[in-house]
Amino acid sequence: QGFFDPVAGFGVTLRTMFKKVVTEQYPFEKQPTAPRFHGRHQLNRWPDGLEKCVGCELCAWACPADAIYVEGASNVDLPDGSGRFSPGERYGRVYQINYLRCILCGLCIEACPTRALTMTNEYELADDNRADLIYEKSDLLAPLLPGMEQPPHPMRLGSDEGDYYRGAYAAPAPEGTA
Ligand code: SF4
Ligand code: SF4
Repeated sequence: QGFFDPVAGFGVTLRTMFKKVVTEQYPFEKQPTAPRFHGRHQLNRWPDGLEKCVGCELCAWACPADAIYVEGASNVDLPDGSGRFSPGERYGRVYQINYLRCILCGLCIEACPTRALTMTNEYELADDNRADLIYEKSDLLAPLLPGMEQPPHPMRLGSDEGDYYRGAYAAPAPEGTA
């Protein structure tokens, strides 16, 4: 039957006391994620503050979990050029991501033609009610950095859409394709 050896028992205790502690004190100490970790999404802006999203809905169609809802609308072309949210013909008037459904697979960011949608490393997406896990456009938009202006406003980086998408501000072409 069972035999209790107090010396062996204390031996285990003593050995364990001097081992390196592996417990992480989350949430007081947060470990950095891998650089390409898929966390909360972000809707990006151009350097003048206009939104990169053109309301095309390709991200919503690509999503296997049906977690994205987009409603596009036309930019209002006022004579003075103001009334724009994006340099394109349209912009995302309503943009929602439902984090009750999202599996953080990244297919939506692959589908986005303007790199409007990317993913951050932020992983703290728990909440105590379902409604707050449906993120609205205001929750997802990148913050305004110095030099950026809250849309709607005219295009400041050039006179047409091409200045944004093909000009100095466009993302560089992948290596070997230029
Ligand atoms: Fe849908 Fe995947 Fe994008 Fe989440 S990460 S919104 S599941 S496509
Ligand atoms: Fe289109 Fe990208 Fe906007 Fe989705 S985030 S509606 S794919 S431009």
